[in-house]
Amino acid sequence: MSKVYIKKSKLHGKGIFVSRNIKKGEIVFIIKGKKINFLIDNNEKAKIAGLNWVGIGKNKWVDPINHCISFNHSCEPNCAIKGKVTVIALRNIKKDEEITFDYSLNESDIFWHINCNCGSSKCRKIIKSIQFLPKTTFTKFSHLIPSYYKKVFIKFNISNFKNFNGLKTEWVNFIKKDFKI
Ligand SMILES: [Zn+2]
Repeated sequence: MSKVYIKKSKLHGKGIFVSRNIKKGEIVFIIKGKKINFLIDNNEKAKIAGLNWVGIGKNKWVDPINHCISFNHSCEPNCAIKGKVTVIALRNIKKDEEITFDYSLNESDIFWHINCNCGSSKCRKIIKSIQFLPKTTFTKFSHLIPSYYKKVFIKFNISNFKNFNGLKTEWVNFIKKDFKI
């Protein structure tokens, strides 16, 4: 039996809720979907990228077919994606609680952002890709961040650059290199 169900969320649209108590570290579900290879090297391409894609590597995303399309962001999440597609609980979660993850931990598109109103005292308000993540948040979740996103954070953290344009030049060079469909 599925551990999750979908219903209206207080955070945003529909959300994923757990149908029974979940223990810290437990697998909640596996994200399933089509693998996408896509080069996002400017604002225009970022706009046509899929709304619900989950990053799994360099220029690679999964376009989910299961409940994951309703997986909401929180700046103080109770779940994380371990490896590439395995959703695990970061703490004990009570039956009928909504599950959330931090979108920035699995996203490297520097042209992407969303506004956040998750209600957490740690809310970052504007959610961007991992290059913009505060160092403290990165350190807190680093054991769960896939190795590709860790490398991206270390090399392309915005604090390594004078400004966004400095990051943009180097980032676009990096993602264009070896890009094949
Ligand atoms: Zn927030």
